[in-house]
Amino acid sequence: MKEVIIGLEVHVQLNKLRSKLFCSCSTQYHDSEPDTHTCPVCLGLPGALPVTNGKAVDNAIKVALALNCNIEEWTMFYRKNYYYPDLVKGFQISQYDYPIATNGSISLDTEDGERAIRIKRVHMEEDPGRLVHVGTIDKSKYSLIDYNRSGVALLEVVTEPDLRTPKEARLFLNKLKNILEYLDVFDSSLEGSLRVDANVSIAGGKRAEIKNISSYKGVEKALLFEIVRQNNLVRRGVKVVQETRHFDEVRGITISLRTKEGEEDYRYFPEPDLVPITIRDRVDDIKKTLPELPDAKRQRFALQYGISDNHAKVLISELGLANFFETVATEVDANLSATWIADVLKGELNYRDLDISAFSPAHMVQILQMLKKDTITEKGAVQVIRTLLDEGGTPSEIVKRKGLLKIAADVSENAVFEVLAENPAAVQDYHDGKDEALNFLVGQVMKKTRGRADPRTVSKLLKEKLQNAPDNHREA
Ligand SMILES: [Zn+2]
Repeated sequence: MKEVIIGLEVHVQLNKLRSKLFCSCSTQYHDSEPDTHTCPVCLGLPGALPVTNGKAVDNAIKVALALNCNIEEWTMFYRKNYYYPDLVKGFQISQYDYPIATNGSISLDTEDGERAIRIKRVHMEEDPGRLVHVGTIDKSKYSLIDYNRSGVALLEVVTEPDLRTPKEARLFLNKLKNILEYLDVFDSSLEGSLRVDANVSIAGGKRAEIKNISSYKGVEKALLFEIVRQNNLVRRGVKVVQETRHFDEVRGITISLRTKEGEEDYRYFPEPDLVPITIRDRVDDIKKTLPELPDAKRQRFALQYGISDNHAKVLISELGLANFFETVATEVDANLSATWIADVLKGELNYRDLDISAFSPAHMVQILQMLKKDTITEKGAVQVIRTLLDEGGTPSEIVKRKGLLKIAADVSENAVFEVLAENPAAVQDYHDGKDEALNFLVGQVMKKTRGRADPRTVSKLLKEKLQNAPDNHREA
């Protein structure tokens, strides 16, 4: 298999800003009628003048710092000229030479270990309007346009071609999203908040650019499809041509849009309506506002709480989850908290497509305390978590209502005696050295006690009884 080379251009909306990049229109358009968040500037009417949103520049610097970039002394905007119906002015205000930042990196946990993915540049630009295709893009008879999105601040993060697999591309996007959310500049849950252009080639061949992929999973799927397509061409002796392709999310395939135009076709020239912005002198103040970032938090969790790196990695993957863990870990044992939050609760949340805000840290504390005091079994604790997620309530009420109080040791012991008497064949198997017989007997006791006995105690009790009365079954 030939080496695969992937580079990404990630467009993220700075959608925590209240207004657009060059006008004061609101960015909260997601539940609004089309064209209701517009003004002469973002509609590109003649004579309307743009004014740069200073907060947008600050947020862009924040991101660039978090991506370990060099922040330039000053930055300026260019006009990128092209014609497309979603672009009101016939050009997009973007950056070209003198972008806000260059030469950064994101450290990625890949299958071959930790690797730095280089960031070539980070720049600001305005979002075009939104085209709505009826049906699929190649079959649709007409398109609708909504200009509410026109002029929203976008940040474009361009990587060097350092990614090697579609999975790495997905991991990279998750990591970037994670950092942006820690910085509180980005809400990934909003539709259209992230769009990716993915460049992919197989060693020695020309590259294809897959445009405008709008979901994290879509990027991985599009790349997988494209790599197979290019490999098939090579195998048949057909040349891969440099071109722009569209990813059809529904059918999971890429379609040729046009053979690639060069950058010079855009006729970039300095935006005459905006003056260059000095940014270096803002950097120190912004640096002071940077929060603890995911990598630093992961290290601190392992150090401060003594939890495993794997648990730390899961816990920092969402800021809400990390905060949840810290709240719980200050009340109960940190390792127990990490295990139950990262291994159990997170799984139950994923299964229900919920995030951590659906669960109360106070409830988690109560559950873990009951577990520590041996009031409930591990199985019971899982049941409490599930019931809280599905039906609501409180842990103690659920334990009472569902009869989850762990039963006393003597009740377990009675059940053990009964099971031994009822299953002579399994007892014989055990003495014949068949280990699975013990598992079977434990299962029978759990069944008898309706899961309220502690399986480890039961196993221990069973072993004791079996050893003390080896010939029990023969006398029976
Ligand atoms: Zn506007």
